[in-house]
Amino acid sequence: MTNQRMVISDANSGLTTKTAIPRPESALFSQNGYLTKRMLLKKLESFSNGAKINNLIDAMRASSPTHRAMDTDDHNSWSLRHPSALSMFDEIMKASIGKQIVVFLDYDGTLSPIVDDPDRAFMTNEMREAVRGVAKFFPTAIVSGRCLAKLYKFVRLSELYYAGSHGMDIKGPSKGQKKGNQTVLCQPAIEFLPMIDEVHKSLVEKVKYIPGALVENNKFCVSVHYRSVEEKRWVELGDQVKVVIKEYQHLRLCHGRKVMEIRPLIKWDKGNALEFLLESLGYAESDDVFPVYIGDDRTDEDAFKVLRNRGQGIGILVSKVPKETKASYTLQEPSEVMQLLKRLAEWHKRSCPY
Ligand SMILES: [Mg+2]
Repeated sequence: MTNQRMVISDANSGLTTKTAIPRPESALFSQNGYLTKRMLLKKLESFSNGAKINNLIDAMRASSPTHRAMDTDDHNSWSLRHPSALSMFDEIMKASIGKQIVVFLDYDGTLSPIVDDPDRAFMTNEMREAVRGVAKFFPTAIVSGRCLAKLYKFVRLSELYYAGSHGMDIKGPSKGQKKGNQTVLCQPAIEFLPMIDEVHKSLVEKVKYIPGALVENNKFCVSVHYRSVEEKRWVELGDQVKVVIKEYQHLRLCHGRKVMEIRPLIKWDKGNALEFLLESLGYAESDDVFPVYIGDDRTDEDAFKVLRNRGQGIGILVSKVPKETKASYTLQEPSEVMQLLKRLAEWHKRSCPY
């Protein structure tokens, strides 16, 4: 793979926005630049978060919270391995002493409830205030699969960093400009935009007869939501998605919580977004940083993995049911996320009253 160092100067925010931008895997292309159908399927399999395209329906089921990955008998041992971040709050805070806490928050299922209509996944005003409270003391970023414009519309806090489209569209607060402005920090997949628009149109056409299927253009990725589709029609929906993406060698299929996502075939995910933001904030090589990442689905695992590898901070999975995760701690639902954010702000006020 060829890594290109990309420098994005940003005089407005004063941030150092230099990062390694991985380009499409050169190994993906045959000598004539094209893949055979078999090669393509093989590559798509290896790039779909472990969910092989031939097992698409299994992956859809595994992504649904109604299908538990573990037996409930295992619940106790799972809870011991991934204790509640609320009950372990004091221990977590002790580990952060002397370090800069940086907060990363997924949106759907973390700050807002999962609802049938993704356009109505609103966060409450109380949650917004809790996020605002934390952002007063710690750099805070929202990291989501949604497109940045929609994400910002839901959250409406200009002091935050936003990584939309799984981190492929990153903006941060501008400095020295009118309050409320945001500056583009990183868009590693900008050349994919026309292709994503095309795929969005094709998918809308292909799945329009499947009741409940919703295709969303998230700018740098296309999401196919199936939370309102009857399970007996999931095979049909998965088949239609497969038919469309077979035509595109440079796209890959990923699975989120009751959503299939078609993304550019570059190695860039929420984990890369987390690393990019830490680097932008000046903590690339620092031992004095304590990132706290809270998220609820498989796409957040990339960020949990980065934290494990760095040996820094903590990952917190939002889930009521046992799941395989690289997160160290858990919270049950968004209301517990809100409690944790409030406690975090209160803890800072108590520790640094001046
Ligand atoms: Mg989520």
